[in-house]
Amino acid sequence: MDEIRIENLEIYAGHGVFEEENRNGQPFFVNATLYTDTREAGQKDDLTLSTHYGEVSHLIHKCMREKTFQLIEAAAEYAAEQVLLHFPLVKSLSLEIRKPCAPIGLPFESVSVKIHRGFKKVYLSIGSNMGDKEQYLHEAVEKIKAHSFIKNVRVSELLVTKPYGGVEQDDFLNGAIELETLLSPIELLHFLQKTELEAGRERKIHWGPRTLDLDILFYEGVISQTKELMIPHPDMQNREFVLKPLAELCPYYMHPLFHKSIKQMLEELPR
Ligand code: AMP
Repeated sequence: MDEIRIENLEIYAGHGVFEEENRNGQPFFVNATLYTDTREAGQKDDLTLSTHYGEVSHLIHKCMREKTFQLIEAAAEYAAEQVLLHFPLVKSLSLEIRKPCAPIGLPFESVSVKIHRGFKKVYLSIGSNMGDKEQYLHEAVEKIKAHSFIKNVRVSELLVTKPYGGVEQDDFLNGAIELETLLSPIELLHFLQKTELEAGRERKIHWGPRTLDLDILFYEGVISQTKELMIPHPDMQNREFVLKPLAELCPYYMHPLFHKSIKQMLEELPR
């Protein structure tokens, strides 16, 4: 990725845990590296095809001045998030805030926090087998699209499938979703669980009927093996109702543990 850099942007602001820091303020210095593709802007010599570092600098300045945080960690989160939300060509960024006048009481040059944030590509499976299934799926997709930290949502065709796991119940309506998000994996899981609950989902029988089921299949660059969150989803390779709609969205996406594409995993399912 190409980089656009802003170095030592000086901003006088009031962040700190002590009241007098908030009242009197002090200088902060911000370094930002924006990861983006500058090729087309460079070839055509056209600013509208790139990200304006002046506008980014002013946005960071505004973020640092309009709120007072106790921690430079919090100021960095806020500024990084705002830059990513306002400048769609910026895929990710690193943002460092230095505080050279921090009240430490010892000689030092500077303290700083540096964070890396960016939109991550995610694949979900979505299903329902109770009530107005299509409406439950439609409402869930609309909630996902409306989340301010989620963009570029694509939804597969929905398909009717037979229930899985041996419980006697109605057919399912299943699909897959691709999106990009600033939410961390666990934040995304909690948002999906809240959406399930809002659809009246109750966890009664394992593999039993449900108004709405949302699972994380893949989250860019993440392998998670905790009980709360398994990524890639541990049973996806056995489920035609997951692989089929997913193959429509990303047939050549490689499973990071099996090193097989979705298309290949679908073809290898026992008939
Ligand atoms: P389910 O009944 O399929 O919705 O399973 C929900 C449970 O699985 C919750 O306790 C989640 O914390 C856990 N879980 C583990 N990995 C995942 C995942 N990749 N996506 C969704 N839920 C998960």
